[in-house]
Amino acid sequence: MGSFKERLERIRTRMSLATEACGRDAGSVSLLAVSKFHPSEALREAMESGITHFAENYVQEGMSKSALLPNATFALIGPLQRNKAKPALQYFHELLTVDRPELASRLSRLAEELRVCREIWIQVDLWGEISKVGGCPPSSVQSIINALGGSSILSLKGFMAIPPPGMTSAFSELAYFRETWQQRLGVRIQLSMGMSDDLEEAIKAGSDQIRIGTALFGER
Ligand SMILES: *Cc1c(COP(=O)(O)O)cnc(C)c1O
Repeated sequence: MGSFKERLERIRTRMSLATEACGRDAGSVSLLAVSKFHPSEALREAMESGITHFAENYVQEGMSKSALLPNATFALIGPLQRNKAKPALQYFHELLTVDRPELASRLSRLAEELRVCREIWIQVDLWGEISKVGGCPPSSVQSIINALGGSSILSLKGFMAIPPPGMTSAFSELAYFRETWQQRLGVRIQLSMGMSDDLEEAIKAGSDQIRIGTALFGER
């Protein structure tokens, strides 16, 4: 698969071809490097190519890696249990899996206590998947936003989603959902959708952030 640098180049090329093909600005989509289950040496190699922000699925794993890599920052993309809310806020700059009002109010209280500012993404599930990947139904979005408290301590950055595999209409449904909420709230809401295999479709539908693991770090 070559070096990290080569894999990164390939992803960047795919991203720029995809933005170009639909007339979007080359810099309008960000790349979140998903380093879960890869050792800290792999992250170190990535840092040599200028990547300093990594996504992890487990709070514990992010904590250990951040101890080893003080110059890296982390995003949480795995399900967040209530009892991990505090370390999640301490060790992650961005939380992408906030999907319950109770969790949002707990985070908001703890963030104030800890005096940290964090970026929050609400994980949405528009398809009623009773799955372990998480995500709230559309009917919970407003109460989660309320629970975040509208403060700048926890700022709402966007919606994150993991669509059911092979569901081709999912990305445009998410884009429409985002549009509705942007109009309702009058603020910009980003969309985090698209992974190694479907980043082109996600970018075409309007994704602002793709999350890439395998295509950057190799098989887990
Ligand atoms: C693992 C994971 C990814 C990366 O998936 P790849 O197929 O390895 O690119 C993206 N998003 C979430 C939420 C994940 O858990």
